[in-house]
This record gives sequence, C-alpha cells and structure tokens, in this order.
Amino acid sequence: MVVGFNINFREKKTFVARILIFKKKEKKRASPNGAKTCKPRVFLAHRRVLEFSFSFQFDPHSIRSIVKPMKMESTLKEYFGFSTFRPYQKEIIEKILEGRDSLVVMATGSGKSLCYQVPPLIAKKTAIVISPLISLMQDQVMALKQRGIKAEHLSTAQTNSNAQRNAENGEYDILYMTPEKACFVSNSFWSRLLNTGICLVAVDEAHCISEWGHDFRVEYKQLYKLRDVLLNVPFVGLTATATEKVRNDIIDSLRMKDPHVAIGSFDRKNLYYGVKSVNRGSSFVDELVAQISKYVANAGSTIVYCTTIKDVQEITKSLCEGGIKAGMYHGQMSNKAREESHRSFIRDELQVMVATIAFGMGIDKPDIRHVIHYGCPKSLESYYQESGRCGRDGIASDCWLYFSRGDFGKAEFYCGEASSANQKKAIMDSFMAAQRYCMQTTCRRKLLLEYFGETFASNKCGNCDNCTNTKEESDISREAFLLMGCIQSCGGYWGLNLPIDVLRGSRAKKITENQFDNLPYHGLGKDFSANWWKTLGFQLISFGYLVETVKDTYRTVSVSQEGAKFLRSCRPDHQPPLLLPITYESDGNQDKKSTVSDNIAGSGHDGMSQAEAELYKMLLEERMKLARSAGTAPYAICGDLTLKKIVATRPSTKARLANIDGVNQHLVTRYGDHLLQSIQQLSKQLDLSLDGAVAVEASQANNNCKAYTITKQPKDLSPAKYGAWKMWQEDGLSAEKIANFPGRSAPIKVNTVLGYVLDAAREGCVVDWTRLFNEIGMTQEIAANIQAAILKVGSKDKLKPIKEELPEEVDYTHIKAWLTMQDLGMSIDVIPSSNQHAEQHCNGTEESERATVTHLSEEPCKTEAALFDDSPRKRQKVELSEQGSGPSPEITEASLLDWIQSFRNGVTLSDILKHFNGSTEATAIDLLSYMESEFLIFKKNNLYKLM
Ligand SMILES: [Zn+2]
Repeated sequence: MVVGFNINFREKKTFVARILIFKKKEKKRASPNGAKTCKPRVFLAHRRVLEFSFSFQFDPHSIRSIVKPMKMESTLKEYFGFSTFRPYQKEIIEKILEGRDSLVVMATGSGKSLCYQVPPLIAKKTAIVISPLISLMQDQVMALKQRGIKAEHLSTAQTNSNAQRNAENGEYDILYMTPEKACFVSNSFWSRLLNTGICLVAVDEAHCISEWGHDFRVEYKQLYKLRDVLLNVPFVGLTATATEKVRNDIIDSLRMKDPHVAIGSFDRKNLYYGVKSVNRGSSFVDELVAQISKYVANAGSTIVYCTTIKDVQEITKSLCEGGIKAGMYHGQMSNKAREESHRSFIRDELQVMVATIAFGMGIDKPDIRHVIHYGCPKSLESYYQESGRCGRDGIASDCWLYFSRGDFGKAEFYCGEASSANQKKAIMDSFMAAQRYCMQTTCRRKLLLEYFGETFASNKCGNCDNCTNTKEESDISREAFLLMGCIQSCGGYWGLNLPIDVLRGSRAKKITENQFDNLPYHGLGKDFSANWWKTLGFQLISFGYLVETVKDTYRTVSVSQEGAKFLRSCRPDHQPPLLLPITYESDGNQDKKSTVSDNIAGSGHDGMSQAEAELYKMLLEERMKLARSAGTAPYAICGDLTLKKIVATRPSTKARLANIDGVNQHLVTRYGDHLLQSIQQLSKQLDLSLDGAVAVEASQANNNCKAYTITKQPKDLSPAKYGAWKMWQEDGLSAEKIANFPGRSAPIKVNTVLGYVLDAAREGCVVDWTRLFNEIGMTQEIAANIQAAILKVGSKDKLKPIKEELPEEVDYTHIKAWLTMQDLGMSIDVIPSSNQHAEQHCNGTEESERATVTHLSEEPCKTEAALFDDSPRKRQKVELSEQGSGPSPEITEASLLDWIQSFRNGVTLSDILKHFNGSTEATAIDLLSYMESEFLIFKKNNLYKLM
C-alpha cells in the first residue's frame, strides 16, 4: 500500500490532512507506458507529496473515517449516479469495509446488491459474488458493464476462455460465480486471487442455504468450506425473504462470527396489491388480453404467472393472437428456448412473459410494471417474492392476483412434494396463508407485512384494492349466527363444506350418519349458494370470528372466542348487528363485477404534460436503439426513473445531465452527446424548452411512436445482423448512422451494415428496397453492368473478379445487393433508372437548400450569442484588468480542487465566491459545470463536493 498525503495550509496555519490511499493493484491497472490513469486530483496529491515532507503518525481507523464517507458518496455518484444512499446501505458498506461478516435481509428493490458492489470500487479489490442462477449473473454483469464497472462471471456459460486467468490476476471489480464453481475451483486460483486482493464474498439469495427456505439448494450448504481458504475475508449473506429460522441457518451455515445483521422493511410502498375472484374460462382470458393490451400501450413490461404449463400455453396463445408480443417460460421447454425467452424479455423485445414460477429468481429487470398471478399461489412467501419482481426501480407498479375457488383444492397436490410431516405442515400453513390473502377483505399490505413479522401500525395502507375501493358494509348478523352456530353444533372439527351442506339441507351420507340432519340449523340456509356461504366463512375467518386449523392436510374450522362471544349474545329470533364489508360474491351480484382491474400502474405520467409524456416515449425508443447497438438491455443503459427525471429537466449540457440523480459517469461519457442531441432535437419538435423551464404544451404534438412490426429473428441470422436490420428497417436509421451509433465498442463500416441488411433480406426479413436503392445509389444501369460482369467472369461465387470488371463507382454493396435481389427472384425493373435518381437527387438538393436557409435564419442568434460571449477566460480577463492584480485568489480547476477537498461536507456557491473573490460568479459557475460534467466534483443539496 502506498500512502500519499495531501496537505493544505489553511488560514490559521493548521494542517488539514487528506489522505489518499492507493493500492498496489492500481499500479497493475496503469497503462502500458507506466503512466497512471489517475484523475487530476490524484496528481495533485502526488505533487503535494513532493512539495512537503514530514512525519505523521496515524491510526488506520482514523484514516478510514476520513477517507470513506467522501469516497463512498463519490463512488456512488460516479458509478451508480445517485448522490444519496438508501436506508441501511451506507452502514452495511462500512461494516464490510471494516472486514465484518454481514447478513442483509432487505426487500427486493431496496438496493441490496449495491451493498456488495460499492466496496470493491472503494477498496480496489475483487468482490466474489455467489449467485444461484447463470442467467441472473449474466444480466447483472451486463448491467454493471454499462456502469463502467469491470465485472465477469465464471460458470459453464462463460465463453471467454481467459476469464478465469483474468480473474486470478485481479482484473475484475466484481466476479460472479455459481456455488458449484466456487466450491470446486482449485485452491491455487483462490490463493492467486487472494494475493491481488479479495474484499468480500457475497452470497446472494442466501435463503437457498436453508432447508427451511423455499428454494433450498444443496450446493449452498458447502459454501462454508471457502472460509478455510479465504481467511479474513468478510462474508455477506443477502436475501429478500427470511424468517428468523432461515436467518439463523444462514449465519450458522456460513460460519459467520458476530455478523452485522441489517433487516430492512418488507414494505414495497410503490406496489399496489389487488385480488379478484374469477371464473376460469375463455371470457376471463379475453378480458385479461384486453387488460394487458392497455398495459402494453403504456410501455410497461408484464409477467403473468400461471400455476400450470397448460395455462401458460393457453394464455400466451391468446395474447399473441391479440397482437401482443408475448413469450413463455416453463419447465418443459428446452434450456435454449428458455434462455432465448428470458433474453428477449430482458431486452424489451417481448412485452409480456407468461410463465410458471420456474421463471423467477433469475430476473433482474427493474422496470416490470405489472405482475399478474393467474391462480392462487402455493405460499405467501412465494407470492411476496414473485410479485416483488415488480417495480424494483421504485416507480408505481401493480400486483394483481386472480384466483378461482378451484385453486384452493390443490393442497394435496402441493403436499405431495413434502418428505416429512413437518414439511407437510409447513407447506399447508403457507398455502393457507395464501388463501387468506385471497379472501382478505381488509388491508392486504398489512396482512403481508404482519405475516413476515413486521408491524404495520395503520389499518389502511391506501395502496391496495381493499383500501382504495370503498366497500359497502352490510349487516350479516343472522347469516353469521347460522353459520357459526352450525359449525359449533357440528363439533368444530370439520372443514367449511360440511356445515354449509347442513345449512343448505343436504342429506348426504356423512350428514345423516352423524345425524346432523336433526340439527335445528338443517336447511335454514337454502337461500344462498354454497359459494356464498364459503365467502362468508372466509370473511368470518379474516375478521377473527372463526379459526382455521390445519391437521396433516386436513383443515378444520371452529368458532373463536370472539365468535363464541357473539353467539352468546344471539337468540334464534334476534341477533345483535354484525357489520361486514360486502365482497363481490357475498353481494350475490356477480354480473356487475369487472374481472380485471382498471387501475394501470405506471401509466400515470407523474405530473408530466402531454408533450413531456411524448418526449418520454421518444426517449424510451432512443434508449431501445442505444441498447440494441450496445447489445444490452434498455434498463442497463438508464433506468425509467432516471429517464423521467431527464425528461423533466431536459438538460442542455453534460454538467446538467450529470447532475441528475441516477445519471452515472459512464452514461455521460458514453452516451451523453447522443442523449443531449436527441433531447434538444425532440424538445424542439415538441415545443419544449430546455433546462427545466416551464414546459410549453405542444397542442399538436404529433405522435411519432410507431409500433415495431413483429418479426422474429430468423434462425440463421446472427444477433448483430438482426439488430442492424431492425435499426435500418424498423427504426428507419441510415446505414451510416447505424455504423457510427453511440454504444458500439467501435464503429463498423457502412458497407458492413448494408451487408447485414442484405443478409437479413435473404433470411426473409422485410426490406424497403426503394429506400435501400436510394441509400446506396443503385440504378438499373449499375445492375445491368454488374449482370454483364457476372456473365463475363462466368461465376458469381467470388465478388472480387466481378468487381474488377466494373467501373470504380460500382462497389461491393451494389454487387451484393444485385446478387441478393437475383436470389430472391426480383426483377431489375424495381430499381429506379439513373434518370429517376437524378430527379430525386434534385429534390434532395432542394431539401438541403431549405436546410441552409433555416440555418442562415438562425445565424443572427449565433452572432448575438457571440456578442455576449460568456466564456470564462474572456470575462475573467476583463474583470482582472478592472480590478488590477490583487491578492484575491482566482478560480481555476486546480485551485478549486485544492481548496474544496478540505471540506468534507461540501461548500456552497457563495462559499466559493467568497473565497475566490478574484473571479466572477459566471466564471465560477462555468467552471463548476465543467467539473461536474467531468465527474471531478458533484452537487448534492446545493453543496459542491469532491468526487
Ligand atoms: Zn391496504
């Protein structure tokens, strides 16, 4: 470790030392010529080391306290784009950096993964992350790379043969591994990696360690073995669902010593919970399709979870027939087909995924707006986890559960998986809890949270169907008296069905054998259906008048103390009032219910004007294009929430873009120019002003959003070719634009793009030939020339001899285009003659002249701008000459960096102006903007801080 000291003399001549720590490892990461790839402030620190020498005794812990808080926040901004940590994150990261084992139990979407992603960036050592699913690792690596973080995974799916060696050499900040890989990789791998530095081992989805958890994985049990190899490396267990039993299992199994345990709230405030009882059948599926069409129109991703593969297939078919891009995922599909489905969903090529719960743990997509369960889930734990995949980015999203009565009969089926009586009971209990959730007539969030041991003080959350729908109450005292009295008279050791049959006057064998037909209640409930009585039974359970008990797989219902108290106050001819909310079913009027909800989460435009909403849609498309060209998922480029903030601000400079919460350095450096250009262009189109000024609503904002034609990627067409074709044909971009599209690691040749488009045409993709001929300047004369050359050469297998027979202006793309056309059986007549081209060319010239005119009319503005040139240098000169050369310090990049780093909590603009009183406000603001866009400093709560 090399320690550099950066010393500042402050006015009172006291030393303020800021200590910068460089790891040996940074030397390895230096460029080949030996120059360090450090930021200017680091050079600054070196220079100071040369200038001053003194002895200084320090305590490593105090170094930590000086370095970390600032470093943590600047790292957060640089890589993740946020200026503030979310609850628990900072504390957890601190504990990990101190080398302490940690257990993190936090809800999905609360930012758990950040807890292990930040430490390696600060410590400059590798973080090992054990993750159960390869697809999950791949998605996370993809997203991290878009943040400029060096990440890789070691698994059977790794195609880069150097990955393991690079990993050993400490080249990755974050290295993902499956538990199998982690347990079986050689000790020499670990010792080499230990030499370069490991800052933590994170065990993601740590509940897989516990047999009590719902996703037990045997390999997870072996992870403790790593402790003997990785001495002194802190272990971090992370999970979204864990009961106390599971928590203790994780701690024991990973042999954690005095771990720091952080348990966050399970409350997902942005999620709306709703439940509807439905009748299975085609009419419901039709309504579902209609509902999902609305979702799709609002650009949100949807998952539909089904309990059977048959349902998955049926619903997918109906959705596709309804013109919705839906894919499916279930256990009977091949691995390859499942991977393809997953990949397409992640990249927004599919709008809806219809799946069994096999599709799940591996999904890391933050912008899923709707999770629909079709059928009662098997446990409340799994429901919480599956529905929790919704809205991980914090934007309002909804979780709907549609169940039918028949679903409740599946207990036996689920219990079939149990290997012991205890497990059977656990399965039954969980299934019962899920049923209770379905039947609940009071706040669903409260029930969910309390199930996970969290108290929810209020009785109404205001964000679930039971809280938002005003339900009428009705006095059901007589019916409640009959049902509870009958249950009591039957002895309280039956399920709900038998007492209901008694009430409805059944003379079934079971009833007559037990002489229940002699009870006074027999036949008194004939007026209502068995379903009606069951609904009442469930209501009485949820209000505590009845208790449900599970024995083996058999459920019994008995009267609770509360129920007994009510019964005691009743007489056969008179009951005190008992008011309960009417459910659709207890209302007896099933016709008026709509099976699917009208509430569309994420469809609200969060106070956006119509023009802003339009801009948002356009930028979503822009993001899609960037993602496609970078071969990544749109969310990995930039999250929905960040994009909404960009729409609200409409930044005109990189500094303003960088200052938006959620915008990281990678986004600014890689896509900044392109984004700013798009924002400027689109805002102009929509008559929106830049830089957050009041939006001017564009009354006739034209809707430029076009639906993508549904074209499946042909089997023999590579993703790169398919992507290029999509951008050319569907996005309407020119080959030149596609070739130089930001997001590519390196630009490709225009002719390569055109070649891709032609290859796609051969594979059956639709191509706008007229546009293509225009773009490449293809004429009938050229085609005829090529044809003649082919005849002369006598073969069309090799292009070079053909090309040599042709004039120079005929290029390979012309030849390829003509050959493709021939193969597709197209005639030369579809190509315009050179005369037609000339006409079009003329039109083209006119257009460019028009463009020039517009440009000219803008000139005066430019001149005006030049008159009021605000460039720092110019104004600074003027000021200085006016003020004369006084002692007042002048603001420069170096002087500001030098001064600002003494203030851990940051400085305000007025502090800066006071200190650098030799410079003007405009100069300071210009410089600050520049430094913000370069990620040298960042602004938080109007305070400027050093990155
Ligand atoms: Zn509620």
